[in-house]
Amino acid sequence: MTRHRIAVIPGDGIGVEVTAEAIRVVDAVADVEWTSFDWSCQSYLDTGKMMPDDGLEQLRPFDAILLGAVGYPGVPDHISLWGLLIPIRRAFDQYVNVRPVKLLPGVQSPLRDRTAEDLQMIVVRENSEGEYSNVGGRQGLGDYEMALQTAVFTRHGVERVVRYAFELARQQNLPVCSATKSNGIVHTMPFWDEVFQDVAKEYEDVPSEQCLADALAARMVMAPQTLGVVVASNLFGDLLSDLSAAVAGGLGIAPAANLNPQRTAPSMFEAVHGSAPDIAGKGIANPVAQILTAAMMLDHLGETQAAVAIEQAIERALADPGARTPDLGGSATTRGSADAIIAAL
Ligand code: ATP
Ligand code: MG
Repeated sequence: MTRHRIAVIPGDGIGVEVTAEAIRVVDAVADVEWTSFDWSCQSYLDTGKMMPDDGLEQLRPFDAILLGAVGYPGVPDHISLWGLLIPIRRAFDQYVNVRPVKLLPGVQSPLRDRTAEDLQMIVVRENSEGEYSNVGGRQGLGDYEMALQTAVFTRHGVERVVRYAFELARQQNLPVCSATKSNGIVHTMPFWDEVFQDVAKEYEDVPSEQCLADALAARMVMAPQTLGVVVASNLFGDLLSDLSAAVAGGLGIAPAANLNPQRTAPSMFEAVHGSAPDIAGKGIANPVAQILTAAMMLDHLGETQAAVAIEQAIERALADPGARTPDLGGSATTRGSADAIIAAL
């Protein structure tokens, strides 16, 4: 077995709890040397920094980064985002955010009567530019005060994420749908559409379509079986991936990856959910999302068999109601659910 060197940032809240379980599962199937970094909103409260000044340089040598979640009551989201997540995504050029959703055995979708065949979507979110820019500011005072925010889309940036979506769709034998809002946002979104059409010409074997993001949101609920890979900008991808996670049964089972497909720097793996302060410390967080996230990490590292083994073990374990945490209607603890998955391995 190849030995992989992974940086772990457990973070805050349930991030710490579910990451501990994901590590146990990975250790059962692969050879990994873990190095833990105590960077979090908790440490921000002590030191005034989410990570040390040379934090990015400390992370760079690793094969991948496994992140729990950062967030703590009283620490505003923009501190954790701009103090840790966004610098890592940008410095390591993790321009793709991949969020697959599947309906798992024993998990009830809020859409009644849906089966696993109906629900297999992968949201590919542009992760480096677009609406989440820091170009803008405020002007004027009083009644005349206004705020401006400029979305930044580059041909290079759009093309590379769209290309990633087509490659993934071809590999998984799924159609591609590009979501924009060109009827309302008349400069950037038509530009995205144009680049999408150019790239689509190179993938004539992959069925593709373009749709309006609002209509697509409705379609994810009404007709998810018509969708496969959904590619969208930073903002729309963010919204659509939370929606797709919800239709598959919730945040407790939704994995995600921030990828640098060219592998010029480490990619970062972090479940969709946050630190969930409301259930932190109770030992009831669902570890499945972070365990599936760790499986995506192994797949990225070339450990395809180990990744598939974990996915299958989760399916086998969840078939037993005793392995389900409260968010899935069961009464298993975080540890108990992970134990069932390890036993199924
Ligand atoms: P953050 O500020 O870190 O983003 P948050 O308050 O937004 O945290 P999330 O972690 O995004 O919270 O989750 C929203 C809700 O979903 C939580 O309140 C929690 O009840 C539930 N939830 C999220 N993840 C899980 C999980 N792994 N297991 C069980 N419930 C979860
Ligand atoms: Mg949140």
